[in-house]
Amino acid sequence: MKGKTAEKHQQWQLFIKELVTFALLFAALGLVVYFLFYQSIYHEMNHGLQWQKNQIMQNSPVPRVNHLMGSEAQKAQKAKNQVPPKDGSFRANLVVFNKNGRVINDPMLGERDYDLLKNTQLIKRHLNRISNLSLTADGITGHFKTLLIKVPKSNPNPVYAGRYVLIMKNIDADLQALTNFRTALVTTLIIFWILAIAIAYFLSRSSMKPIILAWRKQRDFSGNAAHELRTPLTVIQNQLEYLLTKPKSRIMDEAEEVSTALDEVRHMQTLTNQLLMLARSDSNVIQLNQTDVDLQPWLEKSVKLYSDIATSQQKELKANIKVSGHGSFDPDLIRQVLTILLDNAIKYTPTNGTVTVNAKRIHDPLQHEALHLQVADTGPGIADSEKTKIFERFYRTDKSRNSKTGGNGLGLAIAKWIVTRHHGKINVKDNEPCGSVFNVTIPLKSAKTSV
Ligand code: ADP
Repeated sequence: MKGKTAEKHQQWQLFIKELVTFALLFAALGLVVYFLFYQSIYHEMNHGLQWQKNQIMQNSPVPRVNHLMGSEAQKAQKAKNQVPPKDGSFRANLVVFNKNGRVINDPMLGERDYDLLKNTQLIKRHLNRISNLSLTADGITGHFKTLLIKVPKSNPNPVYAGRYVLIMKNIDADLQALTNFRTALVTTLIIFWILAIAIAYFLSRSSMKPIILAWRKQRDFSGNAAHELRTPLTVIQNQLEYLLTKPKSRIMDEAEEVSTALDEVRHMQTLTNQLLMLARSDSNVIQLNQTDVDLQPWLEKSVKLYSDIATSQQKELKANIKVSGHGSFDPDLIRQVLTILLDNAIKYTPTNGTVTVNAKRIHDPLQHEALHLQVADTGPGIADSEKTKIFERFYRTDKSRNSKTGGNGLGLAIAKWIVTRHHGKINVKDNEPCGSVFNVTIPLKSAKTSV
């Protein structure tokens, strides 16, 4: 339950992080787009004001840039401000002041703009500066960009000569365009943010899935390991506590308790070795020690030890090993696979039962040389529904039976890892008339077949 809350918490954190990232990205994108739009509008407007200024100052026709070459082109560059604004619709109002700040071109202002523009004042500190100006008349407010210039007395136009001219460009339409653009941009960003919520949720779920899975596996693994270690520890503790109550006894008198404790110590040793092996396999630190192996003698020797163990338990072990030549694999690890399979086969075969080991060289489906090992027993067999599960860590078909047999469900998981690491295959089938058959196929890398 606690684990589930931690997982949810992690997923939630990831979701928030992704959402914030999306939000920041969209906000940055929105700002950049808005800034560019804003710039393009005002750049054109400022250029228009400068152009108008040049028109007044020079009072001369504008040269056609396209027809100019060489040094002429430089002149054209200089006269860039003489190029009319792109849209061609630049129309400014011109208010002419005398030295005392009185508007002297009232008749030129036009009836429509007169009411608004007559309130304009001469602010000399704005000379040669582009400024913003808002004017209100009859409840209507107009917004302007302005440029105040002082026209020299030498100017051929008598209306402007020696006067101040305020060039005014009405920007109401541009402000409206900016407002509309801002509204459209914010609406689009909100829609995308809502989409981002769904995407962030989906991403956080799908990216957390493998992490949660690995996390659960790890948690189950540690939980199971602790559980498996607790039983032998409890037995050892009980035996030792019992021995403490008999301080005068000789070891010989309490041999059974000592031997039980020792058995549990051995069991724990096996378990910790297996846990270590799996932990190292998970972190990929186990390197395969590929060695050239003479197969027949190596297999006979590996199986021989188990023949004695089977006999001591009134079980029979038949070995049918016919493998010529050499093969390359990690002999220690493959022997461990054999040990796990033979150990289980003998363990689960009843008294007077038979365990059979077959070994032969085969060609796998891709026509590569492979070693095929088969360990068959006449035990209780394995139900179809459990044939794949038994290769999972800590999986045992019958917990009570296995607590007696001393297994902890790690052997086949290790065997599977070793075989897979060798690019081989392992599976289990039913034996006839009873029991199970474990099949292992290991590719033999460099095969030197003996003649
Ligand atoms: P264990 O140490 O418990 O034997 P394994 O991983 O080797 O762990 O085996 C997992 C489970 O598979 C065993 O607990 C047992 O239930 C089942 N099993 C393995 N080998 C055999 C077999 N030869 N016959 C029947 N059941 C088997």
